[in-house]
Amino acid sequence: MNTTPVALSLSAHMMTMPLTISSLLVHAARHSGDTEIVSKRVEGDLHRYTYRDAELRSRKLAQAIERLGCAPGERIGTLAWNGYRHFELYYGSSGSRRVLHTINPRLFPEQIAWIINDAQDRVLCFDLNFLPLVEKLAPHLPGVRHFVLMTDRAHMPASTTIPALLCYEELVEAENGDWAWPEFDENEAACICYTSGTTGHPKGAVYSHRSTVLHALASALPDAMASSSADTILPVVPMFHVNAWGLPYSAPLVGARLVFPGPHLDGKSLHALFESERVTFSAGVPTIWLGVINHMKQNGLRLSTLKRTVIGGSACPPAMMRTLEDDFGVEVIHAWGMTELSPLGTLSRLKAKHRDLPPEQQHRLLEKQGRVVYGIDMEIIGASGEPQPWDGRSTGDLVVRGHWVVSGYLNRDDSPLQQIGGQAWFPTGDVASIDADGFMLITDRSKDVIKSGGEWISSIELENIAMAHPDVLEAAAIACHHPKWDERPLLVVVRKPGRELSREQMLDFYEGRIAKWQIPDDVVFVDEIPHTATGKMLKARLREMFREHRLPGV
Ligand code: ADP
Repeated sequence: MNTTPVALSLSAHMMTMPLTISSLLVHAARHSGDTEIVSKRVEGDLHRYTYRDAELRSRKLAQAIERLGCAPGERIGTLAWNGYRHFELYYGSSGSRRVLHTINPRLFPEQIAWIINDAQDRVLCFDLNFLPLVEKLAPHLPGVRHFVLMTDRAHMPASTTIPALLCYEELVEAENGDWAWPEFDENEAACICYTSGTTGHPKGAVYSHRSTVLHALASALPDAMASSSADTILPVVPMFHVNAWGLPYSAPLVGARLVFPGPHLDGKSLHALFESERVTFSAGVPTIWLGVINHMKQNGLRLSTLKRTVIGGSACPPAMMRTLEDDFGVEVIHAWGMTELSPLGTLSRLKAKHRDLPPEQQHRLLEKQGRVVYGIDMEIIGASGEPQPWDGRSTGDLVVRGHWVVSGYLNRDDSPLQQIGGQAWFPTGDVASIDADGFMLITDRSKDVIKSGGEWISSIELENIAMAHPDVLEAAAIACHHPKWDERPLLVVVRKPGRELSREQMLDFYEGRIAKWQIPDDVVFVDEIPHTATGKMLKARLREMFREHRLPGV
């Protein structure tokens, strides 16, 4: 018999305000109104304005969107680099109850068309340099009613095959801004990002206003990105790659100055912008930093204001962390996430108890993918289906749940979630260990694990060691068929230009750094490793390329 006393529930007496995306920009305009947003434009020059200007223009854009007859809930697609017009589309679209759909222009054109049609985009806004691409795509986009070129009248093409091409600046300038941000249910859809679809069609993750605002709040915390109004933030990670990891939302939330690099993502351009705009904080995938580091080393350059950067999207090689910290004084925050997590899952930040550890031990913690922030929880699940101990050694399939984790995908009925211990969890497809302090280490994507005689070898660990060799530019470890062991590791290496590195020298480098049985069986040198549209190594392609490779002694 239930003996719990029955009490009437007491209502709270608190204001409730919906967590809408527009509230972030309204806050920035009111409290950091004169803080700058600087953009390197596709047109070539630098553009400067403030949060106050951005908020007004976003309202005008919302008016223009209404005038185009685009109804609430309808999708607005973007093919655009990081810049102020794209930023206005983030707010003008979601803030007016339309749904922003950022599209990765580096995908194959057929994939882009498929995604636009799957999301049912009604309006497509795109940067000047994507005009030829959109001209090619337009006949295959029956649902798009308006094509908008994100430029001014002076840069509009004299002729184009796109019917009734609209000019972004004309649309915005025709409005007066006399329009108020609506309040509505925070659980409404705000934006859509597609997974990169390395296997099968990409899948649409649909974020809500609530999930996006909570993600922005958590990502700004000191144990996360530690963003503040004292920062100048340059997101290198594109606004079409999981919303630039939420920075276009968290920067206005804290009132940080923003610098957008446009399409200029090479090492030289980025370094110049870091210096000229006195950037303090940045974020990007490891390949971007390879370019910046090489440019600085070749030209004897330094970074005078950049204090810290988030690196994620793929494993950050420890050698890269050391170089950035020791040679350039930039603190690296290693982070893990995915499209389905909006994207932030974990970040590597030390606890107070780690402060007095010897630097080597601190480094080993910081090299991991890190700890969750409030709002996300995680477990590792073993072959038995049971959660594994958090001992830093046991590995399992990483599952997560939280306020900004998807529960399904656009236009798909099947749920990706798994029931574990009476709760729904999202399977990430990653294999990881977690230590007693909650530091998570990704050892592999489950499909990239190398299974040698029943034991698992971490491809990421093999790659991290190779990347520490001074002659190696990039390295991938993949499984190669072996008649006795089933699979053995094959290392695919790109040498730095002008360096001579032999197979034997590379293999010798592993001695003492890893158990003998985990050392790759063979090394092949290539000119280039194929990458996905978001800069990850395409291991499926590499496995295909080296399917017939004969390991020595086989
Ligand atoms: P997609 O899954 O579509 O390729 P995402 O950007 O969502 O694109 O990629 C998420 C995946 O990227 C993760 O599941 C993980 O495998 C990998 N990843 C992200 N960050 C890291 C990291 N810091 N270390 C290792 N792997 C990472």
